Amino acid sequence: MIIVLKKSATEEQIRHIEEKLREWGLQPNISRGSEKTVIGVIGDQTAIRSRPLEVFPGVESVMTVLKPYKRASREFHEDPTVITIPPVKSGCSPVVIGGRDIVMMAGPCSVESRESLFEISRCAQAGGARIIRAGAFKPRTSPYAFQGLGKKGLEYLAEMRRELGIPIITEVMDTRDVKMVAEYADVIQIGARNMQNFNLLKAVGQIRVPVLIKRGLASTIQELLMSAEYVLSEGNPDVILCERGIRTFEPMTRNTLDLSAVPVIKRESHLPVLVDPSHATGHWDLIPSMSKAAIAAGADGLMLEIHPKPEEALSDGPQALLPDRYMNLMKELKTIAKAVGRSL
Ligand code: PEP
Ligand code: MN
Repeated sequence: MIIVLKKSATEEQIRHIEEKLREWGLQPNISRGSEKTVIGVIGDQTAIRSRPLEVFPGVESVMTVLKPYKRASREFHEDPTVITIPPVKSGCSPVVIGGRDIVMMAGPCSVESRESLFEISRCAQAGGARIIRAGAFKPRTSPYAFQGLGKKGLEYLAEMRRELGIPIITEVMDTRDVKMVAEYADVIQIGARNMQNFNLLKAVGQIRVPVLIKRGLASTIQELLMSAEYVLSEGNPDVILCERGIRTFEPMTRNTLDLSAVPVIKRESHLPVLVDPSHATGHWDLIPSMSKAAIAAGADGLMLEIHPKPEEALSDGPQALLPDRYMNLMKELKTIAKAVGRSL
């Protein structure tokens, strides 16, 4: 931490700050320049993070050098985290996220019916998806829009998993549902709108099902990492991050895919990173190019939405890929994966 002092700061004020820092077990190092005097603070600063040093007389500003996320940071855990989805629920071979393989999670936006879930999941699996995505609890902007099938949707997902032998990822929106969703899901999704629902993050931190956290619509990368920190600090080490576009002034796409988040997160954190080009762009025709770019940027996986009749989809039809387009894209993505030393 660096404390920048006002030009007008008196010796007495500086001594007072020094004394306080020492009292808190820290070592202040004063450097007096011709323009500014700054105090470099050395030591374990976790205890003073909540202290408002800015209000001390003579202080102009305080800069934090230490990262606020600890367990999510590279400094804490140098090697990349590799998460294995065990075959307990699916009966399939384990799925490894964060390793050499790029993991495709594909499926419908929502579980709409048993039949359509089975049809789309079969297609997703045939194209190479290792995990089926589908929401039973849907975070919709309008209360009048389709809200998801709830528990029935989870039951269809479990039935599909039994039959196809493929794990599932599905969203939980409410702390009261965490236990139930965890019984069904192989990976629990925290949606963009709940990225900073701290009680929900704590609740999924207390279970032992891997958690995928989607970046909030207006959240910084640091805030995303802090959300991961919530889950990790509660004891769940299996956290996957997902860039799904952020809201900007650009109306041509549903959101703006911040691809630079992938290398930034890789630099800052050991956690695996996925990209969801479906929600990021909102248009099916933009998904192939953004999927390729995501793999080239170093993503550990993708999350895609598929629907055989997008015009009849109960949610997110405009961004759904038709099955044959998804199949073609998967072939193209294999080439990109190979070019960056990965496999799909
Ligand atoms: C979803 O994956 O179905 C979803 C609602 O995504 P997001 O939370 O990123 O909007
Ligand atoms: Mn969707």
